[in-house]
Amino acid sequence: MKIKSVRARVFEWKGKTVPPQGNFCSNAMDLVYSKTETMSTFRFHSWTVVEIETDSGIVGLGNVALAPRIAKAIIDEYLAPLVIGQDPWDYEYLWQRMYRATHAWGRKGVTMAAISAVDLAIWDILGKSVNKPVFKLLGGRTKEKIPCYYSKLYRTDIQEMQAEAEKYLKQGFTMFKSRFGYGPAHGTKGVAENLKAVAALREVIGYDNDLMLECYMGWNVEYAKRILPKLEKFEPRWVEEPVIADDIDGYAELNQLTSIPISGGEHEFSLYGFKQLLERKAVSVVQYDTNRVGGITAAHKINALCEAYSVPVIPHAGQMHNYHLTMSSLASPMSEYFPMFDVEVGNELFYYIFDGEPVADNGFLQLDDDKPGLGLTLKTEFLDQFNIIE
Ligand SMILES: [Mg+2]
Repeated sequence: MKIKSVRARVFEWKGKTVPPQGNFCSNAMDLVYSKTETMSTFRFHSWTVVEIETDSGIVGLGNVALAPRIAKAIIDEYLAPLVIGQDPWDYEYLWQRMYRATHAWGRKGVTMAAISAVDLAIWDILGKSVNKPVFKLLGGRTKEKIPCYYSKLYRTDIQEMQAEAEKYLKQGFTMFKSRFGYGPAHGTKGVAENLKAVAALREVIGYDNDLMLECYMGWNVEYAKRILPKLEKFEPRWVEEPVIADDIDGYAELNQLTSIPISGGEHEFSLYGFKQLLERKAVSVVQYDTNRVGGITAAHKINALCEAYSVPVIPHAGQMHNYHLTMSSLASPMSEYFPMFDVEVGNELFYYIFDGEPVADNGFLQLDDDKPGLGLTLKTEFLDQFNIIE
């Protein structure tokens, strides 16, 4: 079997979107002076879809959600020529070719996201070629079904947040992640607002359920040191990405300082990036995203590393490319789960582009033993709502 062609297309959503409400979510841009709102940096309204076809007629699907137009250019100009004519079963060799050929200017960020998409499509081909789901190729089922946590609860009106938590509690979710709305720029009043939201959510879900808290890199070390001790009494399962991804010393300091596990890795890349995080004890929960970290070839190795360090892997975002790794690794106890909503942040776009995403049932996800590859197909229903760039 040989790879015949690589097609990368950008899907830009032009349909209706829900504008962010209230203080929504702190983010890395909050600390930079800006005359306009900074929340747009937290929205992702286009994706790159990669289709790789083999000479036997199998088509594998991959995707990139970061900087899609640039990812497409990297795939078209640099990665496609490296894999065309090659056997997809040589996935490690192909991964090393892509990684090393772009190493002078790539390594992390959008280049690694582009490599991830090609690697995902290759693994989809492998599964389809032997008629097995990808998780079977990675070692099989390590759990009967995947526990998943409800991930939304952006910072809006407190009563609205409580109503949202209550609604999904009734649907059987036992784990919830919420976003902080305030950071250093909002001063002492913002600290109080952050604490108020956490207390309000605990009121609804109680202490028998898990509450995770997300900063999306919107704090700094000083601010985190101020607020983390005040959060301890609310027993969060973790506090996520308190500072920017490059501040590994900051992560390590905070993770030592507080009894709350600090999580991160959603903006970290490759086996080397995670080796650094683990060696420094910078995070207590690893949250790579397979479509950023280097695809399944890289994520599988990172799972092994995390297993050796006894650090759980709970990938960023739900989505099939992550679920197969979670299903097949004992280092992964659960999945994040973005329910399908009208297009808001852009995480939901996955549902608008692909068919095959599992829907949570009573707080659990199931993968089908009989669906080969990643189990995704391109959806036709919303095609007219996208501007598609070939
Ligand atoms: Mg996150």
